[in-house]
Amino acid sequence: MGLVVQKYGGSSVADAEGIKRVAKRIVEAKKNGNQVVVVVSAMGDTTDELIDLAEQVSPMPAGREFDMLLTAGERISMALLAMAIKNLGHEAQSFTGSQAGVITDSVHNKARIIDVTPGRIRTALDEGNIAIVAGFQGVSQDKKDITTLGRGGSDTTAVALAAALDAEVCEIYTDVDGVFTADPRVVKKAQKIDWIAFEDMLELAASGSKVLLHRCVEYARRYDIPIHVRSSFSGLQGTWVSSAPLTKQQGDQKVEQAIISGVAHDTSEAKVTVVGVPDKPGEAAAIFRTIADAEINIDMVVQNVSAASTGLTDISFTLPKTEGRKAIDALERNKGGIGFDSLRYDDQIGKISLVGAGMKTNPGVTASFFEALSDAGVNIELISTSEIRISVVTRADDVPEAVRAVHSAFGLDSDTVEAVVYGGTGR
Ligand code: ASP
Ligand code: MG
Repeated sequence: MGLVVQKYGGSSVADAEGIKRVAKRIVEAKKNGNQVVVVVSAMGDTTDELIDLAEQVSPMPAGREFDMLLTAGERISMALLAMAIKNLGHEAQSFTGSQAGVITDSVHNKARIIDVTPGRIRTALDEGNIAIVAGFQGVSQDKKDITTLGRGGSDTTAVALAAALDAEVCEIYTDVDGVFTADPRVVKKAQKIDWIAFEDMLELAASGSKVLLHRCVEYARRYDIPIHVRSSFSGLQGTWVSSAPLTKQQGDQKVEQAIISGVAHDTSEAKVTVVGVPDKPGEAAAIFRTIADAEINIDMVVQNVSAASTGLTDISFTLPKTEGRKAIDALERNKGGIGFDSLRYDDQIGKISLVGAGMKTNPGVTASFFEALSDAGVNIELISTSEIRISVVTRADDVPEAVRAVHSAFGLDSDTVEAVVYGGTGR
């Protein structure tokens, strides 16, 4: 008998009908002879609504109370789902993250899982129950306070439980049929990917693809837990994310490693340019130490050639727009210590990334990428690469066109429109 972990997102359990539909699916998995653990998100936009409420009573709610509030969303859906399953004649028990043994550090709003001790889940399963666990939450090891894992954290809960319970697979049910070669809202002819390696999925997630969170994929890779991303609205096979394409679950079919896995884009970043930096050792160090001390994560960095006559250079970097204000303030405060003329802030940028392990061994990928952008008349502002990714920064307005151009140029366009978005308000 196998053990499967299934995770259902908020759009899959948005209302009573959704909960009943999901309950039937869960019962099917149980009837197929599996032990079933289900991780569930809050119904529909519940988490956003709770955040709105908190902001109405306090502009800066304390982390502890904020987490206590947000975890209530998942409690509602877990209890309702257990009721719906019992109504179908099967045994089910729901558990909060804390009861399920999800132990975290004590950083409210973005806690990290440090241990999972699923004793109560094991017992519930051994007694014949389907175990329903509230996603996105845990309990801090030191203070025993309730914590949340950051937005979208239920996926991480699911993978962490799958690892702790040694599950065969972690199924992530969402409102699209899987991972696509590009965002189907931008590229109508994006194709569903049948299998993708952890490495490529990590790069896509880091480059703006929103189907799976980076942290969840990182966890799955560390414990080698295959993820199956699929729709709770259709019965279709979705996308397998795993270390090797050959798995039992795929019926031992050999799946070819694609040269290019997909094109991701991201318009959530901004660019800071530090103008007139003296071209001497220690300057970049001083700038990025200032940014690091402000606890800001940066993405790309470029330094321009120094103007020989002045001995000055410009350094640009990108960072999440949400950290823009903090970065500018920190640099301004340290202006004397670092020594520069001025700062420029630009939040009208976008990033386009091409990802694929095959580019390591296929010459010409970089050339074709830049040709596609040039044919589409897109100007490149910054470039960065890894072994399996090329990223460029362009004007934000150019992003949709650039993504389509690159997607076509690498032969990723499907003959038909494959992507269906089944649910969600996109909030
Ligand atoms: N309900 C939480 C959120 O909306 C967690 C999740 O959906 O994974 O962010
Ligand atoms: Mg949600």
